[in-house]
Amino acid sequence: MAFFKTARPYIIAGPCSAETREQVLATAAALSAMNVQLMRAGVWKPRTRPGSFEGNGAVALEWLQEAKQLYKLPVTIEVAEPAHIELALRYGIDVLWIGARTVVNPFQVQRLADALKGVDIPVMVKNPVSPDVDLWGGAIERFEKAGISSVAAIHRGFSGYTPAAGYRNQPNWPIPIELKRRKPELSMICDPSHITGDRNRIAEVSQKALDMHFDGLMIETHPSPDEAWSDAAQQVTPDALREILATLIVRQEYTHDMSSLEQLEHLRQLMDSLDAEIIDLIARRMELSEKVGDVKQLSNMTAYQPVRWREIVDTRGQRGEMQGMTKEFIVELYEKIHHESIRIQLSVLEGKAKEVKD
Ligand code: PEP
Ligand code: MN
Repeated sequence: MAFFKTARPYIIAGPCSAETREQVLATAAALSAMNVQLMRAGVWKPRTRPGSFEGNGAVALEWLQEAKQLYKLPVTIEVAEPAHIELALRYGIDVLWIGARTVVNPFQVQRLADALKGVDIPVMVKNPVSPDVDLWGGAIERFEKAGISSVAAIHRGFSGYTPAAGYRNQPNWPIPIELKRRKPELSMICDPSHITGDRNRIAEVSQKALDMHFDGLMIETHPSPDEAWSDAAQQVTPDALREILATLIVRQEYTHDMSSLEQLEHLRQLMDSLDAEIIDLIARRMELSEKVGDVKQLSNMTAYQPVRWREIVDTRGQRGEMQGMTKEFIVELYEKIHHESIRIQLSVLEGKAKEVKD
């Protein structure tokens, strides 16, 4: 069975940073008595700004090795340099992960992949800080090409210019969903700690990830979170982790229950025919766009008219809200439709302009 699918959900827990030998051993002791498959700890910490705790480096690898031997718990660390990989392998680290700030740099990712040639160790690749599915998928491919047979993707949210909706790093579920569509075999792990930045919201985001078909969770866990040297607000105690895990509902993708299958089949048939109608209606709307293009061409008007677009946003947004949807959703949908309509109108304007010249 694929490495990250040996348990459902596959749980990775442990401190943001390996701070002291005592802290590492205490965490490992607690986690080994729970349903945790892998212990995490940062040894080299990529901090956004200088001056924060940047990890203990190689000495922390000795603590992890000791913890692994004492408690029979496999361990994982973040690596960002080929030299980190060399040391990690020397100290028997079981799984490596690549951090969000490293994944943005294809040169560095390639250097890491090259350093792993001939060594088949499982690798987890966090999403890059920006919501770029190609960059994320590209980093994963570099490890696959280097011969790594167990690769997992970790969704840890994306940086924004402003902290959005109370998240530390905004989750953007369509991006991991698209990655999984492109790579159906890929194991998907969610890191609710870095997404929320808030220990009180770990359970909620973990449940959402499981409902979105994620295979596992990486949850920062520390014996005394408030005293943590990094990411204090988002770490939970081992006891809190046990409670979170106990409340999670693990759902299946499929069921054998005939009545549910029949109901689903019926609802999906209704959806299929509605979708056909929606597509036909959009096509009719696009035919109107072409006619609008003709009128605008004759009267020398611009294809894009900001006043009209504002009116569409207001009226469609309101109608969507009346129907129980969010204004944001309807506006996003209409952005796509309007964009296509403008493209059609532009091609009418350009085509007619060309005819005039010819
Ligand atoms: C971490 O896992 O502690 C970490 C630094 O993560 P990220 O690369 O997601 O910021
Ligand atoms: Mn952290």
